[in-house]
Amino acid sequence: MSSDHYGTSASYARKEQGYREKALKIYPWVCGRCSREFVYSNLRELTVHHMDHDHTNNPQDGSNWELLCLFCHDHEHEKYTEHDQQSGSVIVAGEDDHQAATFNPFADLKAMMNKKK
Ligand SMILES: [Zn+2]
Ligand SMILES: [Zn+2]
Repeated sequence: MSSDHYGTSASYARKEQGYREKALKIYPWVCGRCSREFVYSNLRELTVHHMDHDHTNNPQDGSNWELLCLFCHDHEHEKYTEHDQQSGSVIVAGEDDHQAATFNPFADLKAMMNKKK
């Protein structure tokens, strides 16, 4: 029995309830990805996604909210994680320039190896 975890998720659900209700008033009950329509009976499967992934950023005009079904919401976050990793490798590739600007023997070595190709 993990009452701590239950307590945490309960308070999170209560917190989510606030902006969820607002978002449901502002936006039509349709998933922003798969266009699935929702009614009262299955409304619990419609979730509020934060476009900037910051759950504390809740502007009253709803500009940071997007209604997504559970499936698309999951997918959206997976995509974000993948994208995050990809852009991470882009930054690593860009480090070559940085290393060449400051003196770095490895950067020279790499340049020499590239020339040999
Ligand atoms: Zn969906
Ligand atoms: Zn989300």
